[in-house]
Order: sequence, then C-alpha cells, then structure tokens
Amino acid sequence: MQERLSLFQHAFSVMPHLVCFAVKANSALAILDLLGRRGAGFDVVSGGELERVLAVDHRFAERVVFSGIGKTAPELDLALRSEILLFNVESEGELELLSERAAKLRKRARIALRVNPDVFAETHPYISTGLREHKFGIDIRRARAVYRKAGKSLEPAGVSVHIGSQIRGAEPFGAAAQRVAALIADLRKDGHVIRYMDAGGGLGIEYHADRPFDPEEKVREYAAALIPAAQSAGGVTLLLEPGRFLVAQAGALLARVLYVKKNGEKTFVITDAAMNDLIRPALYQAYHHIVPVARPRGKRRIVADVVGPVCESGDFFARDRELAPVRPGDLVAILDAGAYGMTLASNYNSRLRPAEVLVEGRRARLIRRRENIDDLLAPERLSHSL
Ligand SMILES: *Cc1c(COP(=O)(O)O)cnc(C)c1O
Repeated sequence: MQERLSLFQHAFSVMPHLVCFAVKANSALAILDLLGRRGAGFDVVSGGELERVLAVDHRFAERVVFSGIGKTAPELDLALRSEILLFNVESEGELELLSERAAKLRKRARIALRVNPDVFAETHPYISTGLREHKFGIDIRRARAVYRKAGKSLEPAGVSVHIGSQIRGAEPFGAAAQRVAALIADLRKDGHVIRYMDAGGGLGIEYHADRPFDPEEKVREYAAALIPAAQSAGGVTLLLEPGRFLVAQAGALLARVLYVKKNGEKTFVITDAAMNDLIRPALYQAYHHIVPVARPRGKRRIVADVVGPVCESGDFFARDRELAPVRPGDLVAILDAGAYGMTLASNYNSRLRPAEVLVEGRRARLIRRRENIDDLLAPERLSHSL
C-alpha cells in the first residue's frame, strides 16, 4: 500500500496534485491512518466514511473530497462543519440543498460538478459509470449552465469526473480528462476560478496472479494519459481518487478448508469463509487467485469449486479451478482481497465478520478483532419489550 501510494505520488510529482484514497475500497482506520500519514487525502462517499477519516485525524478534513449521488442534509452539514476540500456535486438538486445548508451554517463550500463525459470504459457493467445512461454525474453538455447557477451561492472551484472501476487501459482516462480540460477552459471564459481537476479513480489491477503485471508501468501510462490534459487546462491541482490500485493486492482472505466433497463429477472445496466475507466473485463474477498457505504436497493438481457455507449457489470463490490438492484443516489464501473485500462484507447467515491483521515486514498487528455474538445481537430488541 505504501509502495503504491508512492508510485502515484512520484508519477504526478511534475505538477501540483493530491492522491485522495477512495475510502470505500478499504475503510479500516489503521489503513486510513497509514495512508494519511504519508500525505494521502481521501475520497469519501458517505457521512460514515467522513467520520472514519475524522476519527483518525481531524486535520485530514482539508484533504477530503466528498463524492456520491445521494448526500443527505446531515451528511452535507458534517462535511461543511469539517471544512472539507471539495464537494463533488452530482445533481442540481444536491446543489440547491448544499447551498441551503451552507447558508444556514454560514460555511463556504468549494464545489466541483461531477460531469458525465460519455466515455466508454471496458469493465464489468456494474462498475462502469461514465456513460450518459448511468446514474452518476451531470451531462457534460449541460455543465456550463449548471455552473452558472452554482456560482450564485457556492464557490465553483473544480471539475470532477469518474468513469468507472477496474479499467485496464489508460486511454479512456485520457479521453475523459481532455473533455474535462475543455470544459475548464469554457468555465474560465464564464468567469469561474477553477483550481482543481479531479480525475477520479478506477485504475485496474491484474487479478490473475499468474499473469504479468507491472504496477509501476501502469501508473506511468496512467499519468502519461492524464498529465497532458491537466497541464493543458493550466493552473490546476490534479486530484486523483485511486482505491483498488492502492490496496487490493496488499490483502488476502485466509480461509480454512472444512470439507472436500464430491457430487458426481464435481469436487467442492468448502471453506469457512464465504460470500459474506468477500462478495466480489458472486457480485461481479470476479476472479480471485487461490493458493494453499502450506507448500503443496507434490505436483498433482485437482479441479474444484471453492465455495463457502452460505445457503446460496452464488456463494463461491472459484469454479472449476485447478488447484494444488487440499485437505480439511488446511489454510488457503484468496488473493487480492484488500479492496472491496471487508468493506462489502456482511453478517448474512448471521456469520461473524473476520479479524483483520495488518502485516509489515515481520510485524503483524491486529487492526480489527473478530466479531463476536454480542456484536451481532447488540442493535436488536425483542418486540415485546417495546
Ligand atoms: C469507487 C470510486 C473511486 C475508486 O475507484 P477504484 O476503482 O477503487 O479506484 C473513486 N472515485 C469515486 C467517485 C468512486 O465512486
């Protein structure tokens, strides 16, 4: 995680920039602390995520950008009081509510409109966001008129864009940034003082751990696509919102094999981890590499589905996967689970969410204890005790 943050910070060092880690990828306090202490800012999409950042260090507020299409009045109030860096506004309705709340609290609000650049990026349909048909942002063709309106009560200070997640090539980022740069030029003609260009997140990783992947080269290509566009806008601080790229490959989900079961032709490796712990395979048909933790016994391979105990056929980590043979009691590591793993975990089937351990060199620290039954039951009451 530290290396990935540094890669970003170095690649963009030729211009003013701030790397705002997308908290939704991994919101562990210890990780926000680790990245924040190394100069990262944060992209939050809820009041809860902002509270997490503030809980680590109040002073991080000045490096926070707030995105999301459904911000509520209490969430806007919290962000206004905290004096965050930038509100990424996604609709005219939000603009009205923000200006109302800012007036009420007598707070200034720097805003960027999140524009929808109508750029197609090849990724899973659930995590593609940059087309006009998506719910995100404001049509870039209408942006100028909306900025004119916004300028009456708020402080238009930037333009933001985010075209999706797990995007492999750099071209769509460049195309979106060029459209944003053109809009910035127009907005300046209209008299707005635009100081921030927020390029969003979305840089993808390689989940197939047996295929080549050079993160340094990826960031270099990404920077090469964005920097010319940002420099053509001139006089802007470039905000970046990487999530997955910084943390995914630092995390593994450890699971213990409970049973190895044969149903007809098929072999199932049943683990004590399940879709409630890591839902990406079930939700996005995502691939995660799986390796035994102990050295495999010999060269033999099996073909198996690796599944959890949850009562859903969608509860799988891998299907027809070639693996080293495993036995009950063995540990397996489901790799690249550092992003959208724990943040998407739930208590489905009343399963307790796992512990989280942060490893640095030879040191391991427990950063979240395993949940217990009291955690599970605490918020509930029996109806007859009303
Ligand atoms: C999810 C999200 C990100 C991070 O996306 P990654 O693919 O994890 O880099 C950044 N910005 C916004 C607005 C997002 O919604």
